[in-house]
Amino acid sequence: MRVEIVAVGTEMLLGQIVDTNSSEIAAKLAEAGIDCYFQSRVGDNLERIKLVIRDALARNDGVIVCGGLGPTQDDITREAIAQVMGVELVFHQEIADRIAAMFSSRGREMSANNLRQAEVPRGADTITQVRGTAPGLICPVGGKVIYALPGVPYEMIEMLERSVIPDLLRRSGDEATIVSRVIRTWGLAESTLAERLDPVFKHIEASGDPITLAFLASGIEGIKARLTAKGHSASELRDLVARYEKEVMELVGDHVFGFDEVNMEAAVARRLEERGLTLAVAESLTGGLVASRLVGVPGASAWFRGGVVSYASSVKFEVLGVPEGEVVSEEAALAMAAGVRGLLHADVGLAFTGVAGPGSQEGHAAGTVFVGIDAGPLGTRATALKLPGDRERIRQFSAISGLDLLRRFLS
Ligand code: ATP
Ligand code: MG
Repeated sequence: MRVEIVAVGTEMLLGQIVDTNSSEIAAKLAEAGIDCYFQSRVGDNLERIKLVIRDALARNDGVIVCGGLGPTQDDITREAIAQVMGVELVFHQEIADRIAAMFSSRGREMSANNLRQAEVPRGADTITQVRGTAPGLICPVGGKVIYALPGVPYEMIEMLERSVIPDLLRRSGDEATIVSRVIRTWGLAESTLAERLDPVFKHIEASGDPITLAFLASGIEGIKARLTAKGHSASELRDLVARYEKEVMELVGDHVFGFDEVNMEAAVARRLEERGLTLAVAESLTGGLVASRLVGVPGASAWFRGGVVSYASSVKFEVLGVPEGEVVSEEAALAMAAGVRGLLHADVGLAFTGVAGPGSQEGHAAGTVFVGIDAGPLGTRATALKLPGDRERIRQFSAISGLDLLRRFLS
């Protein structure tokens, strides 16, 4: 099964928005073992949309079109697909009723142009809309298929997962099951990780096991290694993935902070919960980034006490009790951690002080960051970091690096 993605929207051609939909769709296709050799972008122009869809259909088994399903004049994906199919658009009363009901349940007036979204090319199936107002489309053309999905990413992804991927797998007659595991690492460069995992690559090759290992760089969130096994017995595949996961763990060890959807703050949360500890943070250059990440973890109230954004030196002195003097140092980071721990009655205090740049401060270059941890009877630890990048990256890197230090401290 070979599928092309066609993203529709003039905004993308003008560089006003980035085509994240195509990347998300491509990742899901790859995960499902469906090949994608082409991705196209086209503006809101009927003739050009038809041209791209025809070309895409000619060189693939299926086409996923996203965008241009809305109610306005520039939303012309439905017309384009109907013309490629050589059929009319037919009005579906039950879709119209559903759209009307969605508007009234949100207490909003529905303008008449919304009913355009109830028009469906003759012979097409619809994907019921649950998040937005436009249904998706499944349009058979000869032995091939065109899918249409909304442009809004959150609406698109839901229909893709619920309907398009399963439909593609059914059509491909590939009843294969896929089991995958994402191993999330922090603190190793991609090249180092690749080198360390070389024995695993060699083992996979020599064994002929139906499994692949791939790296996904995810910016400031570290590097993910993904094991994907494809075959027929889900339980055998799970065992296979577990065996290789063990090999990976032996080689990468404590650089692994979590699996699948577990991010760094969730990993920290687990450790705190396991040990029954509460946490408070004192943030200077991160300005609340760390607290915000922590609060993003469901159930944070069980272990997160709160934080102090002690940006001005005087706040460090007056609120946190840091001794007057230099504030970019290990001693200051530890004093901030101890201060916030006491102030907010937490078991553990985590503190960040440093230079986000662009200029230097107290003789320290931008990217010099000190992280302090004070866990009272469980001990203290201060760490100096040298972080790369501009102000924004330094702040983001500080937050995740500090959380990683706390994760290691608690393990
Ligand atoms: P709407 O009902 O909102 O009009 P639609 O299906 O017609 O939805 P578009 O009008 O093409 O979709 O896009 C709606 C919004 O969705 C865009 O303004 C943009 O924010 C986002 N969007 C569209 N296509 C993409 C894409 N390929 N990648 C990321 N975001 C996109
Ligand atoms: Mg639109």
